Amino acid sequence: MRYGRTYNFSAGPAMMPEEVLEEIAAEVLNYRGSGMSVMEMSHRSQVFQQILDEAEADLRKLMGIPENYKVLFVQGGGTLQFAMVPMNLMRNGLACYLETGAWSKKALTEARKYGEVVVPASSADRNFSYIPDCSHLEIPEKADYVYLCENETIHGTSWHTLPETGTVPLVSDQSSMFLSRPCDVRRYGLIWAGVQKNVGPAGMAIVIIREDLLREDLPAFVPTYLSYKTHADSASLYNTPNCWSVYCCGKVFKYLLANGGLEAQSKRNEEKAALLYAFLDQSSFFNGTAAKEHRSLMNVPFVTPSREQDAAVVAASKAAGFDNLKGHKSVGGLRASIFNAMPKAGVTALVDFLRTYEKEHG
Ligand SMILES: *Cc1c(COP(=O)(O)O)cnc(C)c1O
Repeated sequence: MRYGRTYNFSAGPAMMPEEVLEEIAAEVLNYRGSGMSVMEMSHRSQVFQQILDEAEADLRKLMGIPENYKVLFVQGGGTLQFAMVPMNLMRNGLACYLETGAWSKKALTEARKYGEVVVPASSADRNFSYIPDCSHLEIPEKADYVYLCENETIHGTSWHTLPETGTVPLVSDQSSMFLSRPCDVRRYGLIWAGVQKNVGPAGMAIVIIREDLLREDLPAFVPTYLSYKTHADSASLYNTPNCWSVYCCGKVFKYLLANGGLEAQSKRNEEKAALLYAFLDQSSFFNGTAAKEHRSLMNVPFVTPSREQDAAVVAASKAAGFDNLKGHKSVGGLRASIFNAMPKAGVTALVDFLRTYEKEHG
């Protein structure tokens, strides 16, 4: 790693590709002859309009987003989407939430403020360490949507197969696996992602919504700003967007396109995760906490035999130059988040460190 940078295993904000950061650094004082940085630029200027248009076009290319889906760049991060989804999509006042961890739980708790929530499947019984069997989901006919969190950042599980929801739209929180693998957008009514996990700087969410789900007739209590239609009608320029985040995310989209797209990224992610899981699977000191068949390629929680030893490993990892390996308090232990921008060398270095630690202390 150059510039004294560290292998940062944070669950978000997380690493960005070094090449992208270098480009941003080179443009920060004077963006392509405009005489100013993107931070200082009017969001109504032609220069910024081009940045926004290219970001959307590149994301569409990357994911193969069909024409009948809108792409929205919305402020408020991930958490605001917990409210925007039910506010905008609950027509009949009923939604199904699949409860698989901390983030889907937060989403369903918020949705209950706006309507009835049913939970046809949950993995709460084993501390969200697996994805429940959803092959025979009972979805009420009048349900407005079925919601899931496609990668549970804290519990380290991921949906490797999507549930069948028939004509009921599927809504997915892709925050911690967005752009980590190819995505068949047609399977969803709405996809959203907070960008600070797998794409760029915090403070923005990307929403991909099928046009027929945009509504004119929202309840009066819904603020204008929280209507998806407001953002769709104004092409993400209803007010000042998070210009900086749009710009940096746009750079990451171009970087992914230039490096083989999502197929290639998915291969790199599989390779990285395989390195770490192969080590954990043979270790008698470190143990992964998620069920093998449902584990995440992005967030890898693991534990040692005791809390004291967990803490000792975290401290030693810090001294060895790694950062943010402490697990979330609800799971304990350690967690390595190995998002798109974590280099393979970072995972190899971590595995070497853990192997040596086990030899000396295990
Ligand atoms: C981080 C995260 C969120 C919340 O994002 P904020 O931008 O911090 O509000 C929601 N869902 C998932 C899966 C996350 O990883």
